Amino acid sequence: MARPMRESWTKTEFSKSLSSRPSRNTQPEIFLRRALHSLGLRFRLHRRIGKRLTVDIILPRHRLAVFVDGCFWHGCPAHGHAVKSGPNLSGWVKKFASIKEREQRAEQALSEIGFRTVRLWECAIRSDPVQAARVVLAATEMH
Ligand SMILES: [Zn+2]
Repeated sequence: MARPMRESWTKTEFSKSLSSRPSRNTQPEIFLRRALHSLGLRFRLHRRIGKRLTVDIILPRHRLAVFVDGCFWHGCPAHGHAVKSGPNLSGWVKKFASIKEREQRAEQALSEIGFRTVRLWECAIRSDPVQAARVVLAATEMH
C-alpha cells in the first residue's frame, strides 16, 4: 500500500495546543483508573497489541479492553470534529479518518484474540468517573 503524502501543516494556535496534548495518563484516564480500582477491578495499562495500536486499560482476566477516547479526536457527540474550515481542513479530515481506521483496526485485532472492547468518552469520565467505571464493570459481567 502506498503511503499518503505528508500533509503540509500550517501552524495555528489551535493546532499547536492540540499537538502538545498528552495522550497517555490524561486526567480522565487517571480518574477512571481510580474508580475502577475502587470497584475492585484489576487492570494493566498501555498494552501494545499491534503496530501503532495500544490499549489504554486492559483487564486480562475479563478479556476486556478499555479505551478512553478524547472527545475532539474521536468525535464525541458533544465536543467532536469542530474543525469545519481553516487552512488545515483537509489535514484534519485525513487525521480524523485515520483515527477511525485505527479504532477499527484495534477492535479487530482485539476480537481476534478474544477480547471485547469498551470505549468511554473523556467527557463522560470527567463528569462521573464512577458511572464510567460501572460501565466497565457491567461489561466484565456480561459473559
Ligand atoms: Zn465529549
